[in-house]
Amino acid sequence: MTLLGKSISEIHKLLTSKETSATELAQAHLSYIEKSDHLTHAFLCLTKDLALKQATEIDKLISAKKELPPLAGIPLAVKDVLCVESYPATCGSKILEGFKPIYNATSVNLLFDAGAICVGKTNCDEFAMGSSNENSAYAKVTNPWNHNYVPGGSSGGSAASVAAGFATIALGTDTGGSVRQPASLCGVVGMKPTYGLVSRFGLIALASSLDHVGPFTRTVEDTIRTLAVMAKPDTHDSTSVPQKMRTANCDMVALLNDLPKITNLKNVKIGVIEELSGEGNEKSVQKALDLAIETLKTLGAKIDKVSLPKVKYALPVYYILNPAEASSNLARYDGVKYGARDKSAQDLLSMYLSTRQSFIGSEPKRRIMLGTYVLSSGYYDAYYKKAQRVRRLLTEEFNDIFKSYDLVICPTSPTTAFKFGDRTDDPLKMYMADVASIPADLAGLPAISIPCGFDENNMPIGLQFMAAPLADRKVLEAAYAFEKATDYTKFSPMLQKYESAKT
Ligand code: GLN
Repeated sequence: MTLLGKSISEIHKLLTSKETSATELAQAHLSYIEKSDHLTHAFLCLTKDLALKQATEIDKLISAKKELPPLAGIPLAVKDVLCVESYPATCGSKILEGFKPIYNATSVNLLFDAGAICVGKTNCDEFAMGSSNENSAYAKVTNPWNHNYVPGGSSGGSAASVAAGFATIALGTDTGGSVRQPASLCGVVGMKPTYGLVSRFGLIALASSLDHVGPFTRTVEDTIRTLAVMAKPDTHDSTSVPQKMRTANCDMVALLNDLPKITNLKNVKIGVIEELSGEGNEKSVQKALDLAIETLKTLGAKIDKVSLPKVKYALPVYYILNPAEASSNLARYDGVKYGARDKSAQDLLSMYLSTRQSFIGSEPKRRIMLGTYVLSSGYYDAYYKKAQRVRRLLTEEFNDIFKSYDLVICPTSPTTAFKFGDRTDDPLKMYMADVASIPADLAGLPAISIPCGFDENNMPIGLQFMAAPLADRKVLEAAYAFEKATDYTKFSPMLQKYESAKT
């Protein structure tokens, strides 16, 4: 019997029926990673000791016949921008080499408390800046569907680890699409909850008004199970949504209980965003969207075209706000407090300068310069403040749409996975990869990407659902119904190859 590629409830059954132990499960995943990750470079470090220690604790509960916590024994991979106590957190950057946090991120802690087993820290674009993982200072993650293609970014290692079957859950972060876009390119489910629903304490910040923590899983149900544990208020994060504001529409435990009742989408009103559902998309993506719309109609949803004219400003607004906030957040890496230092420098100032010069990569440097520029006196009003105003107008446009529609949809990414090197010389072309994912970050909306087809090279395509802030349940219900009506989430070619080579 294989222990790989299982869902959360399948693992739960295997453990409670004693068909396997948590230790066996952890070992099977670690050995698969050790044998196969040279193909994907999804991990920057394995947390083997931690995994086996956590697995032993679960096995003790099983032998004591105690009730198992909801994620008991579930293999978890964590993006290297989130802190796991005593293990390296590099953010994919040389400047954090050697840094080991002294506490767990709240999101990580909640999953650990629920019994998840951490197999490793995943590779990512440097400081989560990128859309292809080619900005990692360590290695380029490859797409498990075809290693000649990028996995998307910046959480490419997390997306690849779930697509390959290295882990059941992977945590990523989404500032401008970095959970949903790689989920789309790797054929898995990726969710960015409402801003503030999952704590960012222990997340090494990129752009604080845009950063979200979100899960990758193979199925929508597993995303709901993960959020049921992880989407909790946190006094350590001042932007965390307090309990009293969490409505029934973000109650994931209730949603889990209601899942058997979700068989159709009758009375659900969905708007197809005109500006993101036409010409700009690759043909195969457009075709998959049209097909998805038909499926949603069959499920009973009412579908119209809707226009969000301000969406066209999302990308330029993002590339002012993101660098502005990034330049401020990255100021702390000066060789004194964390990670790497140029030890040959003769005085303090040259140490600061040469440390940053030597150990920060070119994309973060580009953003530090851009960000410092747009925040500088005289330009603040012209760029930063203006971008914030346009962000507000875009948010209002979404709010208006959600007065008449439960959800809006569009392809998650205008293209499927591209080949390595295709966009590295042209940052603007690379930035376009997030044209459809960035609006939800700017407006703080819950948004999910789920597989909805394949292109002519058999590379996955993703469909995105978005809803009003704190209506996370609506995107999950629709995604769940769509997933039940289709079978795109059932494949994992890399895992299948590994399993058939074993037999
Ligand atoms: N590709 C986007 C960027 O480079 C998204 C990053 C993210 O969501 N972390 O900014």
